[in-house]
Amino acid sequence: MRKEQALLFELGAPGRRGCSLPQPDLPVKPLDELLPPERQRKSALKLPEVSEGELVRHYTALSTRNYGVDSGFYPLGSCTMKYNPKVNEEAARQPGFAFLHPCQPAESVQGALELFYRTESYLKEITGMDRVTFQPAAGAHGELTGMMLIRAYHSSRNDQRKIVLAPDSSHGTNPASAAMTGYKIKELPSDERGLVDLKALRELLNEEVAALMLTNPNTLGLFEEDILEIAALVHDVGGLLYYDGANLNAIMGHARPGDMGFDVVHLNLHKTFATPHGGGGPGSGPVGVKEHLAPFLPVPLVEKGESGYYWKDDLPLSIGKIHGFYGNFGVVVKAYIYLVMMGAAGLRQAAADAVLNANYLMERLKRSYTLPYDRRCKHEFVLSAREQKKKGVSAGDIAKALLDYGFHPPTVYFPLIVEEALMVEPTETESKKTLDRFAEALEEIARLVEEDPEHVTTAPHTTPVGRLDEVRAARKPRVCWEGDEKSD
Ligand SMILES: *Cc1c(COP(=O)(O)O)cnc(C)c1O
Repeated sequence: MRKEQALLFELGAPGRRGCSLPQPDLPVKPLDELLPPERQRKSALKLPEVSEGELVRHYTALSTRNYGVDSGFYPLGSCTMKYNPKVNEEAARQPGFAFLHPCQPAESVQGALELFYRTESYLKEITGMDRVTFQPAAGAHGELTGMMLIRAYHSSRNDQRKIVLAPDSSHGTNPASAAMTGYKIKELPSDERGLVDLKALRELLNEEVAALMLTNPNTLGLFEEDILEIAALVHDVGGLLYYDGANLNAIMGHARPGDMGFDVVHLNLHKTFATPHGGGGPGSGPVGVKEHLAPFLPVPLVEKGESGYYWKDDLPLSIGKIHGFYGNFGVVVKAYIYLVMMGAAGLRQAAADAVLNANYLMERLKRSYTLPYDRRCKHEFVLSAREQKKKGVSAGDIAKALLDYGFHPPTVYFPLIVEEALMVEPTETESKKTLDRFAEALEEIARLVEEDPEHVTTAPHTTPVGRLDEVRAARKPRVCWEGDEKSD
């Protein structure tokens, strides 16, 4: 049964109040003395008039309509929706961190600087890079920063390169970031293995190429086995290698982008390093670089000197600032706690478990859905609903049907090279029991596609709202209550 949720404005009654204020015990000045008449409202604000109880019930009801990592399985491919330990939040809320002011002198925030310094040293170790900036606020922002570093590097050598290569399986933010930096994008095709097509790469490479942006494992969840050869080919023409490390969850503690030949890498602390995400922020997309790119990093960087930690501002070749102050410090606190609690062995285990969980689900689900690239996967895998599509049921329908089983759907229609793609990333924090329940749900949906396809194409049946007009919601959002004056 669907239950409509009334708007707050539709509740209550005229004159009803959620609070009572005492009479003022000081003389009240007439309004005209406080505010000139031409500045005063002509009509009353249309505020909801509700009691405190109505207010609390309204927002409590809304809060139960959310679905998050804390409510259930969330296998959204490429997003690493793993469970985030609550102790990270506790740490970030400590007054000693939470109430710092970014303008405080460095002497008074030595602990915070030390935390940046230590986190940087851990991330350098994990990625095999020489320096790290914490300024970028998210993954895509990290990519933009990385591309700006690459451009600054080439410009400093009077080398005006124009082209950036990105695989056809790449995350959309890759070509977007390169384009925002002023580069022309050339798409690098994947071969029948789902990996970089080396022949095509050789044909595309020349002295115009500034960089190749690569995700490894790529968005099919497959490890680029030829990475050392790819790196050599790109470096031979004077290009640089950019590593999209949003999905480091797959390899942390096992392999390092720095050792694979990458020059720049961004990480998503709000994926791999356990900060809740998906609600719009805040995130953190630190960027690590090899020595030859360090002079171009955003300022300031944290350094350790004789008398403690300090901010280093004098980097004459720096690309400048790409975020106010030093980035989203609270997220770095959470990542630091996560890193310390896991330790090297814990991180290695987390990646291994993420890969095991993905392979377990992949082996089971490939019996019910098409697995276009049937190879050992890393942290995620991509199924295709192309057989179901022949019966009139799309990947989108299957995603909607999963809602009736209480699961968040996988990523759909990405990567673009897989028809009717369903991209599943279970992460390491789920039990075998949860994975089995999810597999059973997808198997049952596959059976329904054969027996009662309409049940799937009309799903979901149990959620508060059914199929929303997502295009209209994006193009013509109505975010204000406009009372009785209906508008569209
Ligand atoms: C999530 C993701 C990004 C973008 O990260 P945001 O923090 O959402 O900007 C980039 N590349 C890949 C492969 C990702 O999975």
